[in-house]
Amino acid sequence: HYHLLRGTALSKSIVDQIKTNVVTLKRKYPDFSPTLKIIQVGNKSDSSTYIRMKQRASKSCLITTIVEKLPLNVSEDEVLARIEESNSDSAIDGIIVQLPLPKLLNEQTITDAILPSKDVDGLTVFNSGQLAKRGGHPFFLPCTPNGIMELLRSDPNIIVEGKVALVIGRSDIVGNPLATMLRKENATIISCHSKTKNIERLIKLADILVSACGIPNFVKGEWLKKDAVIIDVGINYVKDKSKKSKRKLVGDVDIASVKNTIGFLTPVPGGVGPMTVASLMNNVFIAAKNSIAGKTFHPYISPLPLPNLE
Ligand code: NAD
Repeated sequence: HYHLLRGTALSKSIVDQIKTNVVTLKRKYPDFSPTLKIIQVGNKSDSSTYIRMKQRASKSCLITTIVEKLPLNVSEDEVLARIEESNSDSAIDGIIVQLPLPKLLNEQTITDAILPSKDVDGLTVFNSGQLAKRGGHPFFLPCTPNGIMELLRSDPNIIVEGKVALVIGRSDIVGNPLATMLRKENATIISCHSKTKNIERLIKLADILVSACGIPNFVKGEWLKKDAVIIDVGINYVKDKSKKSKRKLVGDVDIASVKNTIGFLTPVPGGVGPMTVASLMNNVFIAAKNSIAGKTFHPYISPLPLPNLE
């Protein structure tokens, strides 16, 4: 039978370790108090669920979270002003803006307003650019890809170096940075997306397959190479009359068609999801540690106001 690569237990051990480290540092520096600011625009119910999961994990490792809720019709300037406030507040170590944002707000502009040394989602141009460079040094790695790399590292039978790793999806939060991280660990990368043709032919080559396209039952068992490692990132809800909620959470992999020929598979739920949250906690801990060590960084020089040409 294939091995299930579970994230639940590993994420718990990471969070427990963070708690121990926080306690130790608090003893040494009484002011040490890791704090995460979460900015939520609107009241999207999935976003609220994710935020609750982050709050619960924070609590168990003694990280304080402050959720700042802004109305759905908030202006971009107002969101930027709130970020600026948190950037200059020394009591805040990490800042995240819960995505997705309403259509009228520019996600790129808003995530990029976060100070790179507080950007615990790793999405600013500074941090993603540092990640993309061969010799770059980001302050933080994006949480889902970093969680996946930790999961791969957790089993000594999984080898990344020299293997063919195929990533389905090229988003800024999952597919794109993950392909970069796998390449930096010396895998050979195949990056697939919605315009890829004949994907099953490519998947047959993959020793490691990561699916992050968000389509239920997309990856078929018969496409997979023998002994492949399958990481299922998808979070999809499908109808299920037997459940009270009338829906069920599934990944991107058609589990019913996956035979025993593969090596490893991450379950959904209980695979990548909990690892994402653990990575976020770790990033906030690092941010707080850097801040107490005085290692903050301000790469931006305030631009001069543009002349009013009207
Ligand atoms: P996204 O919508 O930004 O990106 C989807 C990607 O899939 C795109 O790059 C697109 O080109 C690709 N794609 C779409 N159709 C395709 C097809 N037919 N063939 C090949 N590629 C195709 O989504 P995202 O934010 O990257 O998230 C992807 C999935 O992962 C979603 O289900 C999301 O809920 C889930 N997710 C899970 C976690 C977690 O912690 N487990 C975190 C983030 C996202």
